[in-house]
Amino acid sequence: MLMQGNLFNFFQPQKITDVFPLLQAAIDSSDSGIFILDGRQKDCIYNQKLLAIWDISEDDIKNKLTPWKLREIAQKLKRPLQFIQFIQATLKQSTPPVEQLFYFKDGKAVRIHANSLYSQAEEIGKTWTFQDITRWIETEKTLRHKNEREQLTRLILKRIRKSLNLSEILQTTVKEVRNLLQTDRVLLYKFHSDWSGEIAVESVSDGWSKTLGLHIYDPCFTEFYIHQYRQGRIHTVTDIYQDDLAPCYVDFLKQFQIRANLALPILQSDSLWGLLLAHHCQGAREWQPSEVQLLKDLADQVAIAIQQAELFNKLQQANQQLQHLAAIDELTQLANRRRFDEYLEREWSRLQRLEHPLSLILADVDYFKRYNDSYGHPAGDDCLQEVARILEKVCKGSTDLVARYGGEEFAIILPNTNTQGALEVAQNIRVILQQHRLIHPNSEVSEYVTLSLGVGSVIPDGQHSPDDLITLADQALYRAKKEGRDRVVLDTPTLHESSP
Ligand code: GH3
Ligand code: MG
Ligand code: MG
Repeated sequence: MLMQGNLFNFFQPQKITDVFPLLQAAIDSSDSGIFILDGRQKDCIYNQKLLAIWDISEDDIKNKLTPWKLREIAQKLKRPLQFIQFIQATLKQSTPPVEQLFYFKDGKAVRIHANSLYSQAEEIGKTWTFQDITRWIETEKTLRHKNEREQLTRLILKRIRKSLNLSEILQTTVKEVRNLLQTDRVLLYKFHSDWSGEIAVESVSDGWSKTLGLHIYDPCFTEFYIHQYRQGRIHTVTDIYQDDLAPCYVDFLKQFQIRANLALPILQSDSLWGLLLAHHCQGAREWQPSEVQLLKDLADQVAIAIQQAELFNKLQQANQQLQHLAAIDELTQLANRRRFDEYLEREWSRLQRLEHPLSLILADVDYFKRYNDSYGHPAGDDCLQEVARILEKVCKGSTDLVARYGGEEFAIILPNTNTQGALEVAQNIRVILQQHRLIHPNSEVSEYVTLSLGVGSVIPDGQHSPDDLITLADQALYRAKKEGRDRVVLDTPTLHESSP
C-alpha cells in the first residue's frame, strides 16, 4: 500500500520506498493504525488498521489525500478543527513527538501520536500512530466507578459498625445506598409474624411516591418465597413489563411505580427479619453484579447492626431494671436505704453551694412490735405498705424523697425546706395518718396506728456532714418517743439551724 501523496509540500524527497516492503510488513503487524508520509510528501504508507479506525476505504486515501479530504475525514470526530490543527502542526519540520486524544462522534476514543522520522540526523518523514483506546477508557471508567462504590460502601459499613443507634444506622444506610446506586427508592421492609410487613425506613427521590410506614400485604409472597429468602435468595427484576412475572406480582409492583426491583433478605441466623429493597421507577434497569454484591454486603451488615442494637436495648432495659432494684425497697416500693444515703449526700452538696436549707424527718411507727404480735407479721407488712403510701401522698414535692430507713422506720428528705416547712410536712403526715384510721389493737397512745416524727433542719455547710443532720433528726425522734409518742419534735441543734 505504497501510495503517491500530495498532502502538503515542503519535505525534501527521500527514500521511504527503499525500505519497502519490510516497512509495510512491520506496520501491518501493529495493532494501531499507522500512517507514514515521506519527506517529499509524495509517498505515504499505511496499514489496514488505519482504515478500520477511521472507517474509510483505500480509495479514500489513494491519490485523494488532499487537505480537503482530510477535512472531510475529520468530520467523523467530535472536534474536527482541533484535529486539523494538530495534523498541520505536526507536519512542520523537526517537530518533537506529540500526542493527543480525540473522540469520534460514535464514542470511539483514539490516541494519536505524531513523530518525525530521522535517518542519519536528517528528517526523512513523518509518522502518525492511531491507537484505539475506547475499551481501555471504558475499563478504566468502570474501575473508577467500582472503586468509588467500594470506597462509599466501606464508609457506610464503618458508620454502621460505629453506631448503636439503630434508627440512625438504618436511615443513613437507605439514604447512602440510594445515592450510590443512583436509583429512585431504597427501603427496609420489616416482616411481621403473619408475613405481612411494614416499610420501616425509606429514602425516595423527588417525584416518586413515599411508602414509609405503609403496612403491606403481598398476596404473591408465599411460604415458597419466605423459604427461598431464608436460604439467601436475591431477587432482581429488570423490567416488570419484560420479565416473566406473575400478573399479581406485576400489579403489586406497579402500585409503587416500580419498573425494576432488587430485593435482598436481612437474615438473623435463619430468621428472616426483613428485606433490603432498591426500586428503579424511571425505567427498566439491569442490576449489575457489583451492585447486587454491594447490597448483599450491606444487608448482612444491617442484619448484624439490628441484632447488636436489639441486644443493646435489652441490656439497657436489664440495667435499668437492676438500677431500679438496687434503689428500691421491695416491700414498700419506696427508695431504699442506699438510695437515701446517695440522695442525702447529693442534696447536701448542692444545697451547700446554694446555701439553701435542707430538712430531714425520721418517722417511726409506735408500738409496732405489738401490732405484729396482734395481727401477725404479714399484716404488719401490709400496714407498713399503707404507711408508705400515705407518706408518698403527703410528700409530693419534686425533689422530696421518701425512703424506708429500716424496719418500721421511714425517712423523708426535704430539700429547699426550712424548719417551719419541715414541721408542717411532719404534722401533715400525722394528721393524714390519723384520718386513715388504721386500727392498732394494742397501742398505748391511740386506737389507730401512729407515728413519732423527729425533724432536723439545717443549711448545709463545710463543717458538718449529712450524718450530723441524721443525728439531729434521730435525737428529735428519740425525744418524741420519750415524750409520749404520736408527736412531732424538732431538735434544737447545736448544728446551725435554718431560720423559719
Ligand atoms: P416503739 O414505739 O418504741 O417504736 O415500739 P416498736 O415496737 O415499734 O419498736 P421496736 O423497735 O421494739 O420494734 C420494732 C418492730 O418492728 C419489731 C419488728 O418485728 C417490726 N418490724 C420491723 N421490720 C418489719 C417488717 O418488715 N415487717 C413487719 N411486719 N414488721 C417489722
Ligand atoms: Mg417503732
Ligand atoms: Mg424502730
